Amino acid sequence: MERVYNFSAGPAIMPVSVLKTIQKDLLSYQGSGMSVMELSHRSSLFQSIMNDAESLLRELMTIPSNYKVLFLQGGASLQFIMLPMNLGKTKVAYVNTGSWSEKAIEEAQKVDGLTVEVIASSKENNFIENPEIPLVSKEYDYVHITTNNTIEGTAFLNIPANGEVSLVADMSSNILSSSYEVSDFGLIYAGAQKNIGPAGMTVVIVREDLIGLKENLPAMLDYKIQADSGSMYNTPPTFAIYAAKLMFEWLKELGGVAEIEKINREKAAMLYAAIDSSTLFYSPVSKNSRSLTNIPFVTGNAELDKLFIKQAESQGMINLKGHRSVGGMRASLYNAFPKEGVNKLVALMKEFETKVEG
Ligand code: PLP
Repeated sequence: MERVYNFSAGPAIMPVSVLKTIQKDLLSYQGSGMSVMELSHRSSLFQSIMNDAESLLRELMTIPSNYKVLFLQGGASLQFIMLPMNLGKTKVAYVNTGSWSEKAIEEAQKVDGLTVEVIASSKENNFIENPEIPLVSKEYDYVHITTNNTIEGTAFLNIPANGEVSLVADMSSNILSSSYEVSDFGLIYAGAQKNIGPAGMTVVIVREDLIGLKENLPAMLDYKIQADSGSMYNTPPTFAIYAAKLMFEWLKELGGVAEIEKINREKAAMLYAAIDSSTLFYSPVSKNSRSLTNIPFVTGNAELDKLFIKQAESQGMINLKGHRSVGGMRASLYNAFPKEGVNKLVALMKEFETKVEG
């Protein structure tokens, strides 16, 4: 079966080598006679998958030993509320850089007695350019940012020092695709379905002093209970954790985050060069805020956009339709997306432009 070039913003493309290992382990895992999906989460076979997944992630991101790594459920969206429930004591600060930041802010506002302040925003200019992240005083419990705005195609690739207030990041769409220093953050969270593996697992990396600040939280929503039970308070998303472990191995083999960032920069540069030199397509995003993983581009004519997406589909390039709030096209170039797919897209853009402009 021929594979397509899948530009989906998530769930995203996975490497064929990983999918083949999964295929093999689906019937019998390591000679156990059980599918990897049938392993008890309390079995030694699964415990070693869990341990390997954690240690590989620690190695790939150079996670310091005073941080806990949690593998939870509920997606990044559950973290929108779990985070302020656990870390928000009186006042929290948010940087609003797009639709997902707005969702995070709306959820934090639901925590009783918590004041939520938006300390910087790019909403006024349609989220096309990220604002500066201001230094804030100690009165805030944390400052929340979205490192990569999946829908708008902007990113914070350099993180400014933030004094004494913990920086918290939603890294759902660029975790493991660009290098970040974990110690710049108090907490990092990310849904798995872009650079980590299949949907169903959420990674939380949290500094130990931020765990257990509040009492009597619902058990499933308490970082302390989750950390104390090694992410096994209840049945964890075993298959998603197993697949993530394979993805971590794949990335390590490839050379780790620094190496994949180099490749991701090359892929993104190829597409941005094609967009910037085009007389038909353009990028709605300011050059200094551009994402490496999610690249929107438009013609400015909805009918032409539709035609382009249709032609791309007929050539095996799928899921290029931009988010409904932005329109046009969006190419998501996560870690497993191959360079050849970007070449093919760029070639079609040139061919399409020539046809339209004669
Ligand atoms: N945050 C960002 C930046 C995202 O891109 C997404 C999903 O695409 C989410 C949060 C929501 O993630 P989930 O579907 O895992 O709840």
